[in-house]
Amino acid sequence: MCGIVGYIGMQNAAPILLEGLKKLEYRGYDSAGIAVMQNGSIAVSKVTGRIAALAEKTEHGSLLPGTVGIGHTRWATHGAPTDANAHPHTSNDGRFAVVHNGIIENYLELRKELMEKGYHFDSETDTEVVVHLMEMYYQGDLKQAVMRTSARLCGSYALGILCSDEPNRMFAVREASPLILGVGVGENFFASDVTALVAYTRNAIYLDDGEFAELTPDGIQVYDCTGQPFRKKVSRISWDIQAAEKGGYEHFMRKEIMEQPRAVKATMAPRLKDGQVVLDDMEIDLHGIRKIVITACGSAYYAGCAAKYAIEKLCHIPVQIELASELRYSDPLIDATTLLIVLSQSGETADTIAAMKECQSHGAKALAIVNVVGSTIAKLADYCLYTWAGPEIAVATTKGYTTQLTALYLFALYGAKELRTVDEAEYQKKLQVLKALPKLMQQALDMNPNLEQLAKKYHRAHSMFFIGRNTDYAVALEGALKMKEISYIHAESYAAGELKHGTIALISEGQPVIALCCNDAITEKTMSNIVEVKARGAEVLAVACRDNQKIVSLADDMIFVPKVEPLFSAAVEIVPLQLLAYYVARENGCDIDKPKNLAKSVTVE
Ligand code: GLU
Repeated sequence: MCGIVGYIGMQNAAPILLEGLKKLEYRGYDSAGIAVMQNGSIAVSKVTGRIAALAEKTEHGSLLPGTVGIGHTRWATHGAPTDANAHPHTSNDGRFAVVHNGIIENYLELRKELMEKGYHFDSETDTEVVVHLMEMYYQGDLKQAVMRTSARLCGSYALGILCSDEPNRMFAVREASPLILGVGVGENFFASDVTALVAYTRNAIYLDDGEFAELTPDGIQVYDCTGQPFRKKVSRISWDIQAAEKGGYEHFMRKEIMEQPRAVKATMAPRLKDGQVVLDDMEIDLHGIRKIVITACGSAYYAGCAAKYAIEKLCHIPVQIELASELRYSDPLIDATTLLIVLSQSGETADTIAAMKECQSHGAKALAIVNVVGSTIAKLADYCLYTWAGPEIAVATTKGYTTQLTALYLFALYGAKELRTVDEAEYQKKLQVLKALPKLMQQALDMNPNLEQLAKKYHRAHSMFFIGRNTDYAVALEGALKMKEISYIHAESYAAGELKHGTIALISEGQPVIALCCNDAITEKTMSNIVEVKARGAEVLAVACRDNQKIVSLADDMIFVPKVEPLFSAAVEIVPLQLLAYYVARENGCDIDKPKNLAKSVTVE
């Protein structure tokens, strides 16, 4: 779940490693460290805290001269975020340094074995076993030691390995954690994510699980798990550097919220041709599909919840939504008549990968909706729809979520055409709504200049309720999650009609309730629930269309959204709620782009 980087070339490694780590900081940020090869030994510097602290400690890398190095920004899984637990970890003889992303599941037994052999441990991490195994297995052949060490490890790991006896090469190993090699001229790189590479090279090699690579200044050799060298395709990275930087905004999250109309358009545009939705490379025969299972985690799961309505309505196929972390262990009733749709912004979400593999083993074909090209999920899926949102850096997703919704809406319309479940006139009508989404999202951004004010009113709340029915309920789920993630205010989403079955006991004087009332067919019912909570003292902030006078007169405060066909409204409705969460978090002085305890790409179970 952390970020790792490596550099080998002619330049000083440390400043390049620090730059790369800054780009990866969204992946983990409780501690950081770098190791640089120096005249036959390895110099290490680590800190608890952010990359900025590491940059300061090393005087922007100048205190660690040397042209070969590795770096790490951690999201602790085993052992507290302390200097001792920060990576890189070094061997007892000081000859090896290792950075690791992931979890070594059999670390306890390895630790015991290594301790019995006399190795001493300086940290509580699972990772440290790797570096002692390297020392144990090294007999003058670094590649051999890397292979023997990897063979002992169970779990997930992207590793960067340095050996002071062999200062002109380093190794990178991948098993169930992302790892990309950057191909330069007279220099080479590895990193967990392309954002750390784009400033230096646009040529990348995506390692697959079980593969490892040897990097020298002049070349990269990839090996399969048996140690056989082979040639691997070099891909071009198309993301631009600007897209991975803040571009004048105070926070990435703000920038990414504002980018949504453009991102949604980018997701849609290449797939709208000659008055219809065209999904290239999808050879699914939907006629044989009896059930669609959507699986994901976090916001991606909520995107599935919202799109379920559109898929069922348009394709007439039942849709089941499953949390990936549950599905993977549920022995699901899935077979070849099930289409699995998996959603993951990073394409590296460990639980989602496992759930997908489980369902594929039952015969289901998997359609992946991911943002990161070449990611694990994209590669393992049978079909893939990229979301083209560009790099999403803020940990709390915004454009990732709305572009996932867009991809699902596209799929719903595509399915309707394939299955002839809607007539042409209806199809065209829905297509026009879809095309209008970017414009409507922009309107939703523009028509609420009062959000900052509202945040000043509500930011001291200890808890908030988000209520709605049907598609509004699906948006409430994501709205509450956004609030929790970045403002640390407890927020609970509730199907509005369900409140009276228990939760209404929690409503008392001044309790903020955010009521979503954008789905006309059911608005009257939600309004009754608004009346019920108001009667118990709640302060109601309603989200509705401007022309809904009844709600305007009922609610204490309003957020307006343009009128949208409910099947596709989630993509528009969520936008002001993202911004509200943003302002509340800012009001509370929270670290918006890097909320505590979270990480962007959840590559651990
Ligand atoms: N499991 C390792 C640790 O806790 C690596 C965590 C990470 O991926 O950042 O140090």
